[in-house]
Amino acid sequence: MSVIERDVIVIGAGAAGLFCAAEAGKRGRRVEVLDNAKKVGRKILISGGGRCNFTNMYASPANFLSQNPHFCKSALSRYTQWDFIALVEKYGIPYHEKTLGQLFCDNSAKDIVAMLLAECEQSNVVVTTRTEILRVEKSGTGYHVETSKGLYHCESLVIASGGLSMPKLGATPFGYQLATQFGLSIEPTRAALVPFTLHDHDKAVLAEISGVSVDVYASCNDTGFREQMLFTHRGLSGPSILQISSFWEPGNTLQINLIPDSDAHSLVAEWRIKNRESLLSTCLSEFFPKRLTSALMQINQWENKPVKQYTSNELACIADSLNEWQLKPNGTEGYRTAEVTLGGVSTGQLSSKTMMAKDVNGLYFIGEVVDVTGWLGGYNFQWAWSSGWAAGQVV
Ligand SMILES: Cc1cc2nc3c(=O)[nH]c(=O)nc-3n(C[C@H](O)[C@H](O)[C@H](O)COP(=O)(O)OP(=O)(O)OC[C@H]3O[C@@H](n4cnc5c(N)ncnc54)[C@H](O)[C@@H]3O)c2cc1C
Repeated sequence: MSVIERDVIVIGAGAAGLFCAAEAGKRGRRVEVLDNAKKVGRKILISGGGRCNFTNMYASPANFLSQNPHFCKSALSRYTQWDFIALVEKYGIPYHEKTLGQLFCDNSAKDIVAMLLAECEQSNVVVTTRTEILRVEKSGTGYHVETSKGLYHCESLVIASGGLSMPKLGATPFGYQLATQFGLSIEPTRAALVPFTLHDHDKAVLAEISGVSVDVYASCNDTGFREQMLFTHRGLSGPSILQISSFWEPGNTLQINLIPDSDAHSLVAEWRIKNRESLLSTCLSEFFPKRLTSALMQINQWENKPVKQYTSNELACIADSLNEWQLKPNGTEGYRTAEVTLGGVSTGQLSSKTMMAKDVNGLYFIGEVVDVTGWLGGYNFQWAWSSGWAAGQVV
């Protein structure tokens, strides 16, 4: 069988793989990207509601979760959000800040994929889709990669096959299996940036208000996010919930401050003086839509009576629930709808400068397959660009 010789093979034509390939190609390396999907960059295309939140102006290592929070620093500081923004501008792609530094394409995520493919083309990178990877073996001078399209040989092998989220889009555990094959360890993986499902009794009440969104501060395990929370027919979603899902572990209770700008204890004290004759629902409806008010009353089993008929203890409990509603999710929607995968290839065995496995010469891991996970807001793509760039300089 004839062997196709390349300097670099990148497995995975997603954000990290395409970007790394273009960078390596610029250095004159003969690069081929292999992907099992029909189309490249499928997650980019559906990201940010089709407009791709491609980076965040405030991206810093603090926005990433990893067993080693220092690992991402090197790549993020050498290829920053400003570098990627400059590239987007060079291609004349119109973009805007939506909120909190999150940059989105004005038109379509297709602009980002087209830019990555143009960069690959200029660097003579070959991109081959519909390719199954059958076997990878180390050879004396690099790697043999046996595929459904033939046998390849390369000096450097870059794994950019992403995480487990959205199996419908072609996510596979390939990267973790390959890492294990070469003796690297995997930090346990878990769905993140994912909606919560609720226990039956909460779900029955809250499904009634599906579509209602409210500004909250959601917290768990000493971390919290102030953004919108959305009630869905399955449970809870919206940015604050997706963010906190990355910090939540099964069995944990969420604390949700439903009126983050107010001290609920002062508020009920005020009601006792000024709104004595008002029904509780009337007082609450100053803050919440009517449907949410009745759901809260039902779920907390609050009677709807005039404020003057509540004892101080009862009012204190109501105040607690408003500022610190304790809600125990049943679980998450899992990889089916998660935006990212927490955990992955352990950073302890990778060089933070090059992304190469320290003990396996020529084998690199970039992007989401690595145990570096960003918050919601463009951080995950920035990690794909930064880690892809770092490897692209040396492969
Ligand atoms: C719905 C959704 C919306 C998102 N929105 C945003 C957003 O707006 N901003 C943001 O920063 N992040 C967003 N993310 C997260 C972001 O898409 C990922 O973190 C990012 O795509 C990871 O890049 P990657 O290159 O590591 O992996 P991917 O982009 O997942 O690419 C991996 C590639 O590897 C290929 N592959 C997998 N297994 C194999 C195999 N066995 N053989 C060959 N090829 C294989 C896949 O087909 C894919 O092309 C979103 C994710 C989802 C699911």
